[in-house]
Amino acid sequence: MKSLSNFMRTSATQCVCAVLSVLCMGAAMAQTPEPVVSVVFAGDIMLEGGPDRAIRRGQDPFAGVAHLFKSADVRLGNLECVVATVGSVEPEKPNVFRVHPRGLKYVQRHFDAVGLANNHSGDYGPKAFAQMLGLLKKSGLGYYGGGLNLKEAHTPLILERQGLRIALLGYDEFQPRNFEADHDRPGVAWSEDEQVVRDITDARRVWKADVVITVMHWGWEEPMANERQRKLARLMVDAGADAVIGGHPHQLQDTEQYKGKPIFYSLGNFVFEGFPDKVNNVAWVVRLSIDRQGVREWKAHTVKIDRQGLPHAGQQASVVMHLR
Ligand SMILES: [Zn+2]
Repeated sequence: MKSLSNFMRTSATQCVCAVLSVLCMGAAMAQTPEPVVSVVFAGDIMLEGGPDRAIRRGQDPFAGVAHLFKSADVRLGNLECVVATVGSVEPEKPNVFRVHPRGLKYVQRHFDAVGLANNHSGDYGPKAFAQMLGLLKKSGLGYYGGGLNLKEAHTPLILERQGLRIALLGYDEFQPRNFEADHDRPGVAWSEDEQVVRDITDARRVWKADVVITVMHWGWEEPMANERQRKLARLMVDAGADAVIGGHPHQLQDTEQYKGKPIFYSLGNFVFEGFPDKVNNVAWVVRLSIDRQGVREWKAHTVKIDRQGLPHAGQQASVVMHLR
């Protein structure tokens, strides 16, 4: 009996401990803060010319802005050139950009993934585009807004950090349209409104994304966004996008907050040689703080691009915006 009562006492004690530990775990879980993930976006990366000359000298073209990416959970930019050794120039296309793969090690050093939906990634045709996809994969870099075929181009890139699934979708709507992917052709995703809405919905429904970010290549080379940009940005937010990041105008454009979601119409150039005017050599790198409800805060760092097309930035953010 003695041993039985001891056993019962022990069991009861174990039981109480188990209950307590479950309660403690519950309390700890309740206190565990929601994951907050930092996502950094840069504008247009075009490595031809000055940046490639720097690379050939063994110089990292991103060295002057490395601190903006260093502690971020996700680091992204728009790759505004094709990285390849094959392909042929698209006929009658002005300004064609192709760079040697030697620069990818620097892209890989500072970035997790790159956007491909733009009016230069197809400059050397589908063969070069396909080679670039292979090179990016080999370098461990993700990509969005382009793919080996139409389906892949419209499939979101999912990046998971601290259990938070972030979907990235990219679209070009600046001509030429023949850079667009097809069922059997590598290329970029084009922003047909209905398709964009479907992709955003699928990012949550099929790909189980917690947060969806759409990256656009659009607009005119002007300081303010046009009506088409505003209409599409709002449509994307209405469909479930948590943030819209734009580029292509080669300069900064205005920002907007719509239904609590930030819209950056254009971040401007980032690594790009060949623009004599100051307006084209001032850009933003934005850092979004994201939780399950979307963007809770963003910071913009001003970047200055030198004559070689290389970016430089100070430590301090120039704009800090708390959304919640
Ligand atoms: Zn462009």
